[in-house]
Amino acid sequence: MHGVSVLVAGAGLAGLTAAHDLMSVGATVTVIDARNRAGGRVWTIRDDFIDGQHAEAGGDLIDEAQHEICGLCKDLGLTLAPILRNGWGYVRQDDSGRPRLAGRRATGGWDRLPARLADLIHAYLLAEKRWDSPIAADMARRSVAQWLDEIRADEKLRGTVRGLRAFFLADPDDLSLLALVDQFAEGNGSWPGRMYRIKGGNDRLTAALAAPLGHRLRLSTELVAVTHRGRGVKVSVRHAGGVSQLDGDYLVLTLPATMLCRVPITPALPAQQHAAIAKLRYGRATKTLLQFSRRFWRAPGRPRAFGSALPLGAIWEGTEEQRGRAGILTLLAGGSASDATQTMFTGNGPRRMVEALDWLGSRRAELVGSRLVSWEADPFARGGYAYFDPAFDPSLRSWLARPCGRLFFAGEHTSFRWQGYMNGAVESGRRAAAEVAASHRLLGGSGLTASGSSRPQP
Ligand SMILES: Cc1cc2nc3c(=O)[nH]c(=O)nc-3n(C[C@H](O)[C@H](O)[C@H](O)COP(=O)(O)OP(=O)(O)OC[C@H]3O[C@@H](n4cnc5c(N)ncnc54)[C@H](O)[C@@H]3O)c2cc1C
Repeated sequence: MHGVSVLVAGAGLAGLTAAHDLMSVGATVTVIDARNRAGGRVWTIRDDFIDGQHAEAGGDLIDEAQHEICGLCKDLGLTLAPILRNGWGYVRQDDSGRPRLAGRRATGGWDRLPARLADLIHAYLLAEKRWDSPIAADMARRSVAQWLDEIRADEKLRGTVRGLRAFFLADPDDLSLLALVDQFAEGNGSWPGRMYRIKGGNDRLTAALAAPLGHRLRLSTELVAVTHRGRGVKVSVRHAGGVSQLDGDYLVLTLPATMLCRVPITPALPAQQHAAIAKLRYGRATKTLLQFSRRFWRAPGRPRAFGSALPLGAIWEGTEEQRGRAGILTLLAGGSASDATQTMFTGNGPRRMVEALDWLGSRRAELVGSRLVSWEADPFARGGYAYFDPAFDPSLRSWLARPCGRLFFAGEHTSFRWQGYMNGAVESGRRAAAEVAASHRLLGGSGLTASGSSRPQP
């Protein structure tokens, strides 16, 4: 693709991976991002912590089955550190309301949930997981909460499902039953699998992808409009110096749908594609990172990660692969737990959260650093990641990733198998880069570029 210019909007994992792949086939790539840093929802926090430790405010855990991100790390010489080897525990309130550690099996909900979903999963597999099937449409219009009512679920099962807020970033009232069935239909009994994070911080990956771009990565540059008439693409961008225009042969759009729906595109996208982008919801998500003088949560054989339906959300160690006496606990609160966490933090700072971790032994250590990040308040994400609510027509899902002329779409929300994951972002960036290359070939790209100018052959 020598002599072909590609604009990429968004320097998160999807945009940076697309740029990496397009550069590797010779394209001239320019990446713009509204933030003053690359990485988007991959954001490693260092400044708030002592002893040179760090923790992830966004994407953190990498599952062994996520081959694209694992392969990319390997290609770039990054090391994946194994973490959470004792698996996940569960915290539930006892009859007096006090949180208590329980084995996952002991909650009674985890074993029964896949069994209660079995008929739905079977029907979904008969539809070969197609989201344009009436089988999917029928599940999609019901919320998980409605389904729990229909099956007269007991409080234990409801508690287990509520605990999945930290995973889906949506409460059972807001989540489509199809999203739950889809997740469990993937299950091979070992979900989640072995876990990793990138040694030195997940931002090592985005930094390694961003470095070769040099001045072709333009930060603090916001996409405000797109025109894709004729043989090229023009975008208007806002930056400190005002508004200016950039031209390219192709454009890869990796903005979260919450941001993409605000960018006027001329001529307009097909009605279904526009509706898919406009109707996709993003979950509320608050990450609280608490650094303690010692790792009081550790005990032989005990998990270092806990699911829960508590307002604090899911809890795990964020520093397992790091040296030092101190350690950081990561708390991820999704959906209404995100609101509850923020309320707890307001006024008292992290103090009440430390008290709420008493069941884990928080009195035995001193809090030495903290950071709270609410993604719904982030101006360039407006939510943690996408989720499907009962108002989303599932037959529209495939439109999120569908190219339109010279426009290509990537980002976690466009991925089918790995939506909501870093792997989905990487995979979608690779897919969009390959689509650009394929379209260019289909347009008879060699010698004459897509914008029509004759360029020398490499
Ligand atoms: C709290 C939280 C926890 C998570 N935990 C995990 C986890 O444990 N494991 C996992 O695999 N994944 C996790 N994820 C998901 C993962 O982080 C994301 O799926 C992935 O990083 C998304 O990458 P992306 O490139 O699609 O989007 P982004 O990273 O959001 O990139 C899009 C970019 O577009 C930019 N942008 C937006 N609007 C404009 C505009 N108008 N003009 C120019 N640029 C713009 C943004 O600044 C951003 O940099 C988590 C996410 C969150 C929020």
